[in-house]
Amino acid sequence: AEDLRPYKRVLLKLSGEVFGGGKVGLDPAVIKGIAKQIAEAVRSGVQVSVVIGGGNFFRGAQLQEQGMDRARADYIGMLGTVMNCLALQDFLEKEGIDTRVQTAITMGQVAEPYIPRRAMRHMEKGRVVIFGAGAGMPYFSTDTVSAQRALETGCQAVLMSKSGVDGVYDSDPRTNPDARRYEHLTYAEALAKNLKVIDAAAFSLCSENKLPMIVFGMEGEGNVARAVRGEKIGTLVTA
Ligand code: UDP
Repeated sequence: AEDLRPYKRVLLKLSGEVFGGGKVGLDPAVIKGIAKQIAEAVRSGVQVSVVIGGGNFFRGAQLQEQGMDRARADYIGMLGTVMNCLALQDFLEKEGIDTRVQTAITMGQVAEPYIPRRAMRHMEKGRVVIFGAGAGMPYFSTDTVSAQRALETGCQAVLMSKSGVDGVYDSDPRTNPDARRYEHLTYAEALAKNLKVIDAAAFSLCSENKLPMIVFGMEGEGNVARAVRGEKIGTLVTA
């Protein structure tokens, strides 16, 4: 698997937690800052699509712990991601960037349905495509969907932004002060070591299809723009 930086087309995964500024809901100042960075990268010529998590609203697993049916809770989680998509769309358009939201659960008033070939066409025209509602399937995560959408829409890399960590470590840096960050690692190593920073399903999908992944931290000025422009950042994971 080759890392083809600078990229022509990428999928950027954004953490929902960051969108909420650490709280439940939306933090417009934060979203505006992210939109500015994406706009800057798009203007430099990179084709960009985005998947946003929903952790600032609901996580299916947490609702399940509180007594809800898992599948229904996951649908609630997926609907949460759509609110993040609309918020990012708003701030990207304020930056003068054309956007389309495509959702895996159809909701014609606010978004197009997910149509991969149309998504690619939008990107060719310089529009940012924002994928909402995950895969439309319970028991999946937005990390896994990011890998799937990147593959289906011909992206050269999936850029996984994380909050609280700036890459892949050999153990959890939040609990182990001696944890070391990898600059480069293979999917086989990540899976063998059971590294939890990204879903195993996302790792194995990328591994089988030889799609490079960059795992990087959202904290730090301009990190999103740097990742999209293909600068060296975070951890590179390849097959
Ligand atoms: N979800 C789902 N299927 C998908 C994507 C998401 O069921 O294909 C649900 C799941 O409940 C998840 C929630 O949507 O907890 C929000 O997504 P995620 O936890 O991945 O958000 P993040 O942690 O990245 O903010």
